[in-house]
Amino acid sequence: MAHLVCEVVYRGIFQKNLASRITRGIVLSSRKAGRWGIAFGRYGDSPQRNGIPAKDFAIVADTKEELEQHMARYEPKELHVTICVDDTLAKGVESWAWYGLQPINRLILPGGHLLVMSTQPASELLKDTHKKETPYNLWILPGKASLAGLWVYKEDHTEVRILGALAKMVPDFLTLDAVAAAIRDAEWGSELKVESARKAYERVEARPVKITEGNAEVPYSFELPRWWEMREGVSIPAIPIGKPIEGGKGYRPERNAVFKKFTTRTMRPVIDFDTCVKCTLCWLQCPDSCFDVMPDNLYDANMDACCGCGVCEAVCPVEHCITMVNEAAFEDNGSQWEMWRRDKDAYRVWLTEKIKDKTTTGRSHGFRYRGQYEEELERGELELGGAALADGIPGENAAHKGLPVGVHSTHPASIVTGVAEAPGA
Ligand code: SF4
Ligand code: SF4
Repeated sequence: MAHLVCEVVYRGIFQKNLASRITRGIVLSSRKAGRWGIAFGRYGDSPQRNGIPAKDFAIVADTKEELEQHMARYEPKELHVTICVDDTLAKGVESWAWYGLQPINRLILPGGHLLVMSTQPASELLKDTHKKETPYNLWILPGKASLAGLWVYKEDHTEVRILGALAKMVPDFLTLDAVAAAIRDAEWGSELKVESARKAYERVEARPVKITEGNAEVPYSFELPRWWEMREGVSIPAIPIGKPIEGGKGYRPERNAVFKKFTTRTMRPVIDFDTCVKCTLCWLQCPDSCFDVMPDNLYDANMDACCGCGVCEAVCPVEHCITMVNEAAFEDNGSQWEMWRRDKDAYRVWLTEKIKDKTTTGRSHGFRYRGQYEEELERGELELGGAALADGIPGENAAHKGLPVGVHSTHPASIVTGVAEAPGA
């Protein structure tokens, strides 16, 4: 008897369709090899929120009885494979319905596998990925995160490339032939997609990770109240007023002390305090009250609370004053204003380095109009999901921050041979 348990950790809403296609594809491929399987979502993650980390699962077993055994659990607590479809999730995940920060590799069994979709090398990803007490294998599938929307699916072959990679990672359960047969049989029905799966199979490589490697940070956690500590009845307290900064010269709004939200972020605002005109718009419009009012009346986006929505960039009237930058470019949640106050010259060097590198600004939450993805594919490689087309889209980088074609790529050859399939076909 043998079984395989996989999870897909994904961005709520933006990757909902992607995750369900991957888990469904795992089950269909296993059926081709005569196994039984089931794909399902995590109960606590529904209803989903934009960007908030969520999970889907696939369980495959040799027999129906063995599958039933595993289905009797609320959700899997030990996994053979974790699939991370956005590399900013390597920093850890705080879901809508659990408590504290969960390392991306937390549930992986000893010797198990973590597959990450990323253009970063393993050395960079391991700066984010928390240390683990048992060794495991890190697999990187080259490519940008495929982000779309609730009712939109981005036909960039990510789902079949993940399946092709799995055929290399767990060949006892998913053979490449079975994956190819499932792709042909399912509604995808595309030889081009089969070819994408084959290329991913050839390219994905294991990087064994030792227990000494990874981010040594202790993940954020808190104690849940005991039942006798809970208040009687149902009451929702109003948000307290907040706390003064430096004797009342500044002000920090009160925030939820236990739900931090920062793992929702795929981009973060970088602020040029030298050009800020103190108009208050970012402070007023931020949907999460993220801005602390500093003693000199500048506004500092608190990185523990920011969910990365991009509204502040959209409303700021000063060009280049707020720029949304790929979350992968940062290693901590420290205060930008404190950095600026300490050393203004050093801050300018830091800010320029973060913003000028267009590879860190070209990231989009999805599509805003029909045909946007077709246009993105004309400007960039299918393998990497095209080139971000964000010109004029509020909150998703203004025209001057647009990516030149192929700038993300350290892998110049496209993974897909032949002419690109029409998206949505
Ligand atoms: S991106 Fe800006 S507006 Fe959005 S939550 Fe963060 S600080 Fe607030
Ligand atoms: S919106 Fe821009 S200019 Fe206005 S206070 Fe915020 S950062 Fe400063």
